[in-house]
Amino acid sequence: MSFDRHHPAPGRDVLVTGAARSGIAAARLLRRHGARVTLADRRPEPEWPEAARALAAEGVHCAFGREDAGLLAAHDLVVWSPGWPVDHPLAEAARAAHVPVLSELELGALAAQAPLVCVTGTNGKSTTTDLIGALLRAAGREVAVCGNIGRAVCEVAEQVSPQGMLVVEVSSFQLETVDRLQPHIAVWLNLTPDHLDRHGDLATYAAMKSRLFARQVPEDWAVGNADDPAVLANLSGEGARLAFSVAHPVPEGAYADGGDLVLAWRGGLERLIARREVRLLGPHNLANVLAALTAVLPLELPPETLREVLREYRGLEHRLEPAGEARGRRFVNDSKATNTDALRVALQSFAEPVVLIAGGLDKSQDFRPLAPLVREHVRHVVLIGAGAEAIASAWPEASSERAPSLAAAVDAAAAAAAPAGVILLSPGCASFDMFRDYEDRGRRFKDEVARWIQGGETP
Ligand code: ADP
Repeated sequence: MSFDRHHPAPGRDVLVTGAARSGIAAARLLRRHGARVTLADRRPEPEWPEAARALAAEGVHCAFGREDAGLLAAHDLVVWSPGWPVDHPLAEAARAAHVPVLSELELGALAAQAPLVCVTGTNGKSTTTDLIGALLRAAGREVAVCGNIGRAVCEVAEQVSPQGMLVVEVSSFQLETVDRLQPHIAVWLNLTPDHLDRHGDLATYAAMKSRLFARQVPEDWAVGNADDPAVLANLSGEGARLAFSVAHPVPEGAYADGGDLVLAWRGGLERLIARREVRLLGPHNLANVLAALTAVLPLELPPETLREVLREYRGLEHRLEPAGEARGRRFVNDSKATNTDALRVALQSFAEPVVLIAGGLDKSQDFRPLAPLVREHVRHVVLIGAGAEAIASAWPEASSERAPSLAAAVDAAAAAAAPAGVILLSPGCASFDMFRDYEDRGRRFKDEVARWIQGGETP
């Protein structure tokens, strides 16, 4: 197996963990290059996705119902699932035996011919990644948007020519197991407490994110949020620095100045577009737009193309997405808000007080700092899921109630919004206690909203 002239083959006898999207893509890529591949997952055979079971016919050995350290056996490389903790006994066994443990992201990056634009941060990754993809596509570039968003990196890595670009959304889980990754352009949006159940403390989480930049060289570009001291303090590597800011000018990058978005590049300034012409909603999205513009600066795309995209681009499903309007009620689906910071920006995006549906799986987050914002922006809270108690006790002054299901929550919220108002699903929590994932939660919310709208009898 050979990936390219510069990188030695990462392995001939490879163990891939996790029979989900990224594991399946990694196994396929490795098979294409003639490696022997074992795919392991703790779930028994009937619970494996169809696409994973089908790999057996492609010569992949499927280890059903297994995650034990004995799996390591004679494998000389392990591709690690972002869903499995890195202190897992199997990972420990691999490290003890000096067998490399790589993320699917790194494997895909090693196989790719095209340069990578990688986006990381606590919030805004998908929106920014997708927008960078839209900007490049509009400029006629060959581009694949992948990673946490859309298709796995290993699935698309070899489909893009050296003249194209891979735009990759990168989570901190994937960065736990990279050591060769060298993106040509890397973007760090923000850093706030999330996933501390997994990473332990903010310093560890920051160190994880900074690995994206560590191997960059001066010909690469490191884009940081100039408004976030935690990002600036943790940017590492030798990549040339670019910055974005919603608050003040930056030496090189993009910033908001009064009503305009301004590009600063190679000593020149260009007022690109008026802020009110940008379609994407909410103050947080201004940061995402500026980050995307900064990321594509080194590619020197035509300004008119950038303007056209920003006037059109509406954002992604489940992020402050309009979900229906009837009888004075306006429903908004922000199911992607899986942490307190995303919940905060959602509340700040509405001029009038909202009825909030929140709760879900609690990730040891502190909801107390949001209490003043809730007092100002929320009329009533309907709480769902396992995190309901933690939230209720963090906001003792808020008018609130529990709902046993999402259906009951929509009915209760619609009633509380009488005679008119915004009903916002912005859970601030993960979804896995009641739903398959945030997309499942968002779609079921929209189904319940449609049911309420069709019901018709509420005044
Ligand atoms: P990610 O991929 O990092 O989860 P998304 O673009 O999917 O980011 O947005 C996730 C959630 O975070 C949404 O609820 C969105 O409203 C909120 N959000 C988006 N951008 C930002 C930002 N720059 N700062 C804080 N919250 C944000």
